[in-house]
Amino acid sequence: MKRLTVEEMLAFNKYVVDDEANHITLNRELCAACQNKACVYVCPAGLYTLKDGEINFDDAGCLECGTCRVICPQAISWQYPRGSFGVIYRYG
Ligand code: SF4
Ligand code: SF4
Repeated sequence: MKRLTVEEMLAFNKYVVDDEANHITLNRELCAACQNKACVYVCPAGLYTLKDGEINFDDAGCLECGTCRVICPQAISWQYPRGSFGVIYRYG
């Protein structure tokens, strides 16, 4: 049996994106002053990236694991997506 990469497994998921409400928002002022940018390293979906030293983030593709909310409660406002939106797992 072929061993799948993380990217291949993530590709099985389906996401229903809520265009009217983000379920995760960031305090950009705190992010600008943040030294370690831990969110870049902990998100299993790789949704936090660095671009020109600033955090780039989009909650489309979020796995709703809650890891970012635990490691950075001061800057991340987190709630589950509204009903019928969010991730649909189709593998494992
Ligand atoms: S979300 Fe938190 S860990 Fe990530 S850059 Fe902003 S303040 Fe830093
Ligand atoms: S809840 Fe999990 S998957 Fe979603 S943005 Fe945070 S760390 Fe990434």
